[in-house]
Amino acid sequence: MGFGVSYVLQLMVMFSLMFVCALSQDDVVMKKLKTTISKNNLDWSDKDFCNWKGVRCSGTKRVTTIELRSSTVEGSLPQELVQLTELTYFRCSGNSLSGNFPYMPNSLQKLYIDNNKFTSMPNDFFTNMSNLIEVAIDYNPFSQWQIPFSLKNCLALQTFSAVNVSFVGVIPEFFGEETFPSLTTLKLSFNSLEGNLPNSLSGSSIQTLWVNGQKSNNKLNATLSVLQNMTSLQQIWVHGNSFTGPIPDFSNLDQLYDVSLRDNQLTGVVPSSLSSLQSLKIVNLTNNDLQGSPPKFQDSVQVDIDIDKGRHSFCTEVVGQPCSQLVNVLLSVVEPFGYPLKIAQSWKGNDPCHGPNWLGVVCSSSGNIIIIDFENKGFSGSISPSFASLGTVTKLRLANNNLTGTIPKELASMPVLQLLDVSNNSLYGQIPSFRAGVVVNTNGNPDIGKDKPHGSPDSSSGGEDKKKLGVGAIVGIVIGIVGLLGVGAFVFVIYGKRYNKCDNKVQTPNAIVVHPRHSGDGNAVKISVAASESVGASVAGGTGGFSLSSSVQNVEAGNMVISIRVLREVTNNFCDENILGKGGFGTVYKGELDDGTKIAVKRMQSEMVGDKGLDEFKSEIAVLTKVRHRHLVALHGYCLEDNEKLLVYEYMPQGTLSQHLFDWKDDGSKPLEWKRRLSIALDVARGVEYLHGLAHQIFIHRDLKPSNILLGDDMRAKVSDFGLVRLAPEGQASFQTRLAGTFGYLAPEYAVTGRVTTKVDIYSYGVILMEMITGRRAIENSQPEENIHLVAWFRRMLLNKDSFDKVIDPALNINEEGLKSFWTIAELASQCCAREPHHRPNMGHIVNVLAPLVEIWKPAEPDADDMYGIDFDMSLPQALSKWQNLEGISNTLDVSYSSSMVDSCENTQSSIPPRSPGFANSFTSTDAR
Ligand code: AMP
Repeated sequence: MGFGVSYVLQLMVMFSLMFVCALSQDDVVMKKLKTTISKNNLDWSDKDFCNWKGVRCSGTKRVTTIELRSSTVEGSLPQELVQLTELTYFRCSGNSLSGNFPYMPNSLQKLYIDNNKFTSMPNDFFTNMSNLIEVAIDYNPFSQWQIPFSLKNCLALQTFSAVNVSFVGVIPEFFGEETFPSLTTLKLSFNSLEGNLPNSLSGSSIQTLWVNGQKSNNKLNATLSVLQNMTSLQQIWVHGNSFTGPIPDFSNLDQLYDVSLRDNQLTGVVPSSLSSLQSLKIVNLTNNDLQGSPPKFQDSVQVDIDIDKGRHSFCTEVVGQPCSQLVNVLLSVVEPFGYPLKIAQSWKGNDPCHGPNWLGVVCSSSGNIIIIDFENKGFSGSISPSFASLGTVTKLRLANNNLTGTIPKELASMPVLQLLDVSNNSLYGQIPSFRAGVVVNTNGNPDIGKDKPHGSPDSSSGGEDKKKLGVGAIVGIVIGIVGLLGVGAFVFVIYGKRYNKCDNKVQTPNAIVVHPRHSGDGNAVKISVAASESVGASVAGGTGGFSLSSSVQNVEAGNMVISIRVLREVTNNFCDENILGKGGFGTVYKGELDDGTKIAVKRMQSEMVGDKGLDEFKSEIAVLTKVRHRHLVALHGYCLEDNEKLLVYEYMPQGTLSQHLFDWKDDGSKPLEWKRRLSIALDVARGVEYLHGLAHQIFIHRDLKPSNILLGDDMRAKVSDFGLVRLAPEGQASFQTRLAGTFGYLAPEYAVTGRVTTKVDIYSYGVILMEMITGRRAIENSQPEENIHLVAWFRRMLLNKDSFDKVIDPALNINEEGLKSFWTIAELASQCCAREPHHRPNMGHIVNVLAPLVEIWKPAEPDADDMYGIDFDMSLPQALSKWQNLEGISNTLDVSYSSSMVDSCENTQSSIPPRSPGFANSFTSTDAR
């Protein structure tokens, strides 16, 4: 019993000591606080701190609340505050307190320190603060810090407000239902946060979300898609960031009343789930890249959309006015790609075919969309069945993206589709049955033809099957892989010794063929349109159509066959470093022979070669082996194998006229002088004159343009690209053929009737002259509507001689003498582009006009080493017969390359003897003649 009494007494003494101690501790802390702040207007004179203004204590005289309301409090807060272990409420908002904000007791539930001058908070401040419900630390000049990880421990948090507190880095993934089940307010505006809105926000009960106005360079970006799963949201402020993609579906956010999305890069159509949201009161959409029709909200909604002044990509400026049918289709086509920003920024207005270029959309002159080219755009998502609504599209290019899903069967119903290229994506599923003649390229989609994509839960190679694999099978696989690696390494050693790794070409032997022709002419669009006319018919003498005579079409110039191995060798295995340019056929590489002679090797992408491409390839060989002229680029040889089609030309070191006329600034070169331009014009005229008339046969180039005019080091010009050349049937000055060429250079009668005469080349030549005079491209989409077409604009300007000096290329410095020739050429250009073909001069006339204007060019002595020894001024029949006589000679010559280089290309032509040591010499430029 005695023991019991004494124990109770001891306990009583201990508790009273603790109480006195705590009391005195709070007393000490409060007195300390009183000294560290300057307490202007604070009524803190009473001896009992519990009576101080803004301080509240518990029944046991412990401090529970401190509220410094005066708004004039300065100084700092003492470290000792952490000892107020019953403090639940601390507020010092709107004062001028400075220094480090100290640790606080973990009893604290509400902390408001906003609008002060604190310079930091401990990073682990929140570690033990599991009772915190509300935190407001806004507007303090903290030094840069990240959203503290310790915040994760505040499981009871309902409000976290940290506006303008120098946060950097990303918003951590812990903001969400799992960590903060009670969080309703998250305010992180005016920091320097970057990255995306974390997925953890999905499903959270947050009602107020502010992340607007991040100050970092990158700002917050990516999409707003997580918002659609934050169904408690009432207020969303995300303005002043770099958010992209479409406005998410708000249909489940039925308490949302205030949405501020302005000043981002949002794209796509404003969803009706926002515009018809019943709870909505305020919405701000200004300065985004939103598309479609400007949305109409209910009258009660305060809308800021500022279509007149702000940035946008709406199809019209009239609120509620629908977009054209075509625009709607195009928008639905890019919807599954997430309305890519570059598309939204390029697709302006309500008409894709008139006005500024729409990225990836190519129209015919009659205003129909004929090509959709989304190749290499980095798009992800699925292929929309809406493509099928673009009934005039002939080519649908979606290659080299990250597209998933299947090829919609609707695409097979596109009436004039000729090409679908979906190569190098991640598509799966069966290829729909397209009608005969449609070229479908699905290479580089490993799962195409399979029912499920690789790695999907129940794809054959995944999940369960893996578990079922026995140990033996696993051992087998490991052995197999090791074995394959071994064989691979062996092959690499053997093969890699011969060729370096520079060949970037993906070999796809089963590729479905296709022949895309790009254009090197900026805005000009290369065309080859004749849905109803099969290439085979036109080449093989189809009904009523023109056919190449067999003498030209057959590729039999056996002694011009060059080994693929030689070409690999001389181009360093088609190394990227040797790329001279890319054209419709494929890539052109520079090569160097043993003796230093440079060549240009045009390599058709084998998987991209369709019948038409092959025909053009053959036509080029046929024409160039028959016609040779100092102003036509010379063909040295070719290689034609199953998977390889290559043409070898003389190397033209100064590239294309197009580069020198239009891209000289980018290339860091000088603009071409007027005299140079004249001399080039004359060279081209002579080359084309030869094609047109200096032979009994008439060759028509059909695709004259600056990117098909190549320049040597002496800036003398040669016409190239003979893939479209047609030989007029004997005695016929005009004939019908499949329409081909490049928009902007097409003679009107050819575009309309498909009938071709030499005058179609004269027209194109006139356009080139106009380009040389003005420095403007044949089609300048950046110009106002009426000035887009160079010919129309030029001829209009020519009528008004007073203002005509405005058309002269600003890069030209023309003196008096030059001015005379300038007028002559301007007149000539205009005549060449006369609407009526018979009003256009012939090439002979053009040469006669130009020649006196150009300094006389004295050809050098004929090159003794030229194996053909052709005098380029002789007529075509003379040249042909001389060439044919000489053809036999080359067969007696011997090859200078090792036998190991003889490949199937040569083997397939077994009747053709190896090439001679003179092979290299035969490459000697004939330019000097
Ligand atoms: P093409 O396929 O003919 O349009 O050629 C594509 C690009 O390769 C041209 O724009 C030129 O830059 C370059 N190129 C073509 N042929 C030659 C050549 N013979 N010499 C030098 N560069 C060439």
